[in-house]
Amino acid sequence: MVRLLVLMVCSAASMYLSTSEEFSAMESEELRLEREDARPSKLRTEGHAHPPRRLSWLLGGLESAVSRLIGDGPAETEHGRAETERGRSGQPRPYLRPDEKLRILNGVGYGDSSYNPVLGYYIGNLPPLARLHLPSLNLMDASQGVRTARAEMIGQVTVWPCSLAVGSTWDARLVRAWGVSLGDEFLAKGVNLALGPGVNIARIARGGRNAEYIGGESAHLASKLGVQYIEGIQSRGVRATIKHFAFNTQETNRNYYNAQVEERTAFEVYYPPFEAAARAGVASFMCAYNLVNGTYACGSKSLLTRDLRERMGFAGFVMSDWWAVHDFAYQNAGLDLLMPGNSHAADGGRDYFSPAALEATSEPGVVDGASQRVLGQLVKLSATCTPPHCDHMLIGAVATSPEHVALARTIARESVVLLKNEGGVLPLWPGMRVALLGSACDAHNDIDAMLAQWDLGNYYVIGGSGRTIPLAPVSVAAGLRAVPSVEVVNDWFPDNVALAHAAMEGADVAIVCGATTAAESRDRPSLLLDHDDFIGKVLELATIPTVVLMMTPGAVVAPWADKADAILNIFLAGLETGHALADVLTGATNPSGKLPLTIPLDESQTILPCGCNATACIDFAAVSGKATQGGAGGPRGYYNCSFGTGIEALRVGYLALTNQPVGFPFGHGLSYSRFDYSWAVLPPSAFGAHSVKFAVHVAAASGPESGGREVVQLYLSFPDSAEEPERQLKGFAKTGPLAPGRAGETVSMPLDCRDLSVWRVDRSGWAAVPGTFRLWVGSSSRDVRLETSFMLPAGVCP
Ligand code: BGC
Repeated sequence: MVRLLVLMVCSAASMYLSTSEEFSAMESEELRLEREDARPSKLRTEGHAHPPRRLSWLLGGLESAVSRLIGDGPAETEHGRAETERGRSGQPRPYLRPDEKLRILNGVGYGDSSYNPVLGYYIGNLPPLARLHLPSLNLMDASQGVRTARAEMIGQVTVWPCSLAVGSTWDARLVRAWGVSLGDEFLAKGVNLALGPGVNIARIARGGRNAEYIGGESAHLASKLGVQYIEGIQSRGVRATIKHFAFNTQETNRNYYNAQVEERTAFEVYYPPFEAAARAGVASFMCAYNLVNGTYACGSKSLLTRDLRERMGFAGFVMSDWWAVHDFAYQNAGLDLLMPGNSHAADGGRDYFSPAALEATSEPGVVDGASQRVLGQLVKLSATCTPPHCDHMLIGAVATSPEHVALARTIARESVVLLKNEGGVLPLWPGMRVALLGSACDAHNDIDAMLAQWDLGNYYVIGGSGRTIPLAPVSVAAGLRAVPSVEVVNDWFPDNVALAHAAMEGADVAIVCGATTAAESRDRPSLLLDHDDFIGKVLELATIPTVVLMMTPGAVVAPWADKADAILNIFLAGLETGHALADVLTGATNPSGKLPLTIPLDESQTILPCGCNATACIDFAAVSGKATQGGAGGPRGYYNCSFGTGIEALRVGYLALTNQPVGFPFGHGLSYSRFDYSWAVLPPSAFGAHSVKFAVHVAAASGPESGGREVVQLYLSFPDSAEEPERQLKGFAKTGPLAPGRAGETVSMPLDCRDLSVWRVDRSGWAAVPGTFRLWVGSSSRDVRLETSFMLPAGVCP
């Protein structure tokens, strides 16, 4: 059997040898493609496409990969645990033999070219080192809970709100609780390295994976919440992975676009959540599919070694995204672990990190450094299960619990954003008769279709690797029907305007539902809801107060917004969607979610995916002849995507729209309560020592007795000399429930020197800008309640 597998894979390798030259001839002039060569200079100067011993490495590497895959691990020896050396922290670490150092840099994942994980394995693994009693790494996605990679897992794990929904709670404590519970679910399933959180910035409004990224348009929000997720999950003994490093802001041609980003922009706009994660001790970084300034992210020394390790101080290991490696020797750039590792047909059958390949292409000390970084995390792991014997946990264990489902409901309802509520149409009064309009109110969850297509999402979950398929998600209709205080007058929900009109006849209020979904591997074709036309027409004909309820994976446009009496948004919210929405509609929960991104007036206020116009995108793989996932190996083409220059490049998302009217601004979200703000302590007029605190008192001026929660936001403008975008989010705090007539709550938002600093390219570091800072505190980026300014004297901050 082993021999047969080896033979099959080796013949794939020899096929590669005969076809690789063809791939190099496919770059297209019209698209101004540039050729990238990430091979080490040693190989380039020799003028070989690959080192001469290539075939023997391939065969040796493949053979060992296959034998690892079927479980032929190294035998334990009498030396075992006794052999140790010291890691960076001074802690003793097991001594790795040279062959072991090489072996712990190459993952195991998909056993064939079908993108199906091998039974008994996870989405990726690193085999155990039995001699040293080091467990296997068991890796699994992440964005909405434990990925339901196998049908048996559906119903066994909690389907949480997507990360963007979690972000829209702006609730650090809740995110931490989520991290802890996620950690428990991963552990129950035998996973010891979670492939999350995602913290890329929602630069492209149509971005297919924006729902997987926790901070929306704000580096500050992503930093604060990303760290809570990491600390929560890692507190349970499961290690976390921050992704995708870096500039992974669109799915269109994700393997072929070259993000051209200036250093200052990188450090100020895109890196902060990654840097915060590095400082919080995240175990690993996943490098992205795209190129960065002309080099693939996973092969970029300036990204992985200079910026990440040297400037941000990251001490864990870097793993590749799946098939994001396209040539030998990326280890010299700073990549430590190749995933999924074993060779893949789409990559010409090449095993870039086989022991032989690593040995032949590594610069001195590189394998030592990389293996120590991986080892440094392995020693922190407890054994969960060892592939290929993981099915008893992966598809046998039930990881969800009633407590987790209750937490998913809490997060979902805290994530609901009340965008508009004219005339106080919400909450619904007890006894109200409600017409529910549109198919999205009873959205279908087609499990078979999702199992057949990895990147299919619906109105509860995103599609792609971050997907967790729900068994029976609660629809809006089911959620509302479960509430005894209101009556749903209709029992079917077609997208039919005439029937909708008729249903309004016997009702006091109408709720019209609209939604759209998103997936990894493609950006959305537009920002319209799938039911945009229907909603517009229903609102035209509405005879009773009408609420629009949106289920979305990111920013949308709502051209009919003026005609709606109320609008609610929930980012794809998983299993408990309907319950959470019913909680908010009826007032059982007072809404407190805030937008982590802008709802634009129209798409002209957003950045389109690079390579697209309003209606179509280049299919780079088709025009250049490259495979779409991973790639065909050999020389590859790419096309340039400028992330802007100078201050314009810093103006991303809400920061680009400060002076324009928008649909609903960043940070916006209404409550059934009204809050009064005042300074709890007179704001300081100068920045002293190394930090300063702004203490704000918030009290409910009106609203339900049960109270309402407010997200207090702090925005800062730098002195003009800094040439920074106006009004950047630099602090936030969420209050507990505040009831009218009660004392209220004081929240304190600190600023430190870093918050007052810009990235100075000439110094390769941060430097504070002395001068006058203006500061706003409010309920959104536009709803300002308090204003002040303070001086930063020269010399106070470094
Ligand atoms: C995604 C990663 C994911 C990996 C493993 C890739 O397609 O980009 O986010 O962790 O697959 O499933």
